[in-house]
Amino acid sequence: MKIVVCASEVVPFAKTGGLADVAGALPLALEKEGQEVIIVMPRYKAIDPVKFGLKRLKDDISYSVTGKNIKVYFIEKDEYFNRDGLYGDKNGDHKDNLDRFAYYCRRTLSLLKEINFKPDIIHVHDWQAALIPVYLKAICANDPFYKNTHTILTIHNIGYQGLFLKEEFPKLGLDWSLFNIEGLEFYDKINILKGGMEFSDIINTVSPTYAKEIQTKEFGFGLEGVLNRRRDSVFGILNGLDYNIWNPETDKFIAKNFSAQEPEGKFKDKEELQSLCKLPVKKDIPLLGIVSRLAEQKGFDILAEGIDEICKMGVQLVILGTGDLKYHLIMEDMVKKYPKVISLQLKFDDPLAHKIYAGSDIFLMPSRYEPCGLGQLISLRYGTIPLVFKTGGLADTVNSTNGFIFDLYSKNELIKRIKKAVAVFKSKGKWPVLVAKAMRCNFSWEASANKYLDLYAKAKAK
Ligand code: ADP
Repeated sequence: MKIVVCASEVVPFAKTGGLADVAGALPLALEKEGQEVIIVMPRYKAIDPVKFGLKRLKDDISYSVTGKNIKVYFIEKDEYFNRDGLYGDKNGDHKDNLDRFAYYCRRTLSLLKEINFKPDIIHVHDWQAALIPVYLKAICANDPFYKNTHTILTIHNIGYQGLFLKEEFPKLGLDWSLFNIEGLEFYDKINILKGGMEFSDIINTVSPTYAKEIQTKEFGFGLEGVLNRRRDSVFGILNGLDYNIWNPETDKFIAKNFSAQEPEGKFKDKEELQSLCKLPVKKDIPLLGIVSRLAEQKGFDILAEGIDEICKMGVQLVILGTGDLKYHLIMEDMVKKYPKVISLQLKFDDPLAHKIYAGSDIFLMPSRYEPCGLGQLISLRYGTIPLVFKTGGLADTVNSTNGFIFDLYSKNELIKRIKKAVAVFKSKGKWPVLVAKAMRCNFSWEASANKYLDLYAKAKAK
């Protein structure tokens, strides 16, 4: 099959979150299954042309290669992409995001014709790429080039929909008739994700549980009606993890490599993390790690409520991430109060993330909702026991045999679970068994890639 993967961020070129991990790893897994895959993404300022060996194809198109032979095409337009921040900066979202990503979608479709890549499947991810199925059906409907092309939209987080004022609609180059309830209209605004959901052949999300959850009022962010209407075309496939990148046996960022058979190196990684974070270097203190956006979705409301109690539990806590100013301030206060207990790293730092996954004992991920979540999968691989709220992909991947899970979303339940985890950590015999079990869990891409191939076949049958 000829497959085009379209995403606004792709590892290793640009990343702000899990979308990039998935858009980077899925094509590699598909290529291993013998598929012909290309990727199309915007060329941001942050993409280093030397590091990635970018070559020029056209005035506004450069390319690189990933995997064995997957071409990654970069759409260039200085006024839209040659600036700091993929989607925004410290002042908030970029004001012209509709123009930027509508351009990316249109140019992708014209590029495929120019390079004569006639796809069986265009697999688009999240709202930034969601106009592609819309343009395909609304503008390219009679184009013989796209006669046999089908589309899949993967939703990585339905909380991010690409909402814009209706005054911007003419910029999309679409007929006003599409600004209706079965098109892009949503409470008198433009909803780009909704457009993608209406026009793609298949809608998919990143875990079976989240696929069910988003069809309810509680998790659907207003789009549950569309999903219900299209429920026969809605699926959930768990993300895999790229074990070439996330592998404690070969990881170049950590002080000492280790494996399930020889786990001792992990103690060295803990020591290094403690000293790097200026915390007392002590093996017996349970070290809790967090690598996350500092947002309510990620459980920072109950974490903020319980942080004082957590800091008094005889544990250490390392937090890496950026997000809502409110949580930056709360955590900064805690660092002042408990400098020997909590280390706060307010930044995006991939090497440090690796060190935290490797050096922590427990990985905290009490997300209020979580489409799939990669943090818990990474931490399992590194023998760092995840402690999660039972929701979405967390419920599909963590259970009492490989981690700690609580099923009532409250500060008290979170604290109770942390106390339980600390008690198990201290009961020496049990902990290494749990670590070994966690490290043996397998969430590789192979199984998920095959499920995607089944889904592509379903899309082609539409
Ligand atoms: P999200 O909802 O943010 O996409 P996921 O758990 O699906 O959450 O994926 C987050 C990804 O981003 C993981 O690979 C995680 O390690 C990484 N990540 C998140 N915050 C940071 C950070 N501050 N520095 C480095 N990596 C980060």
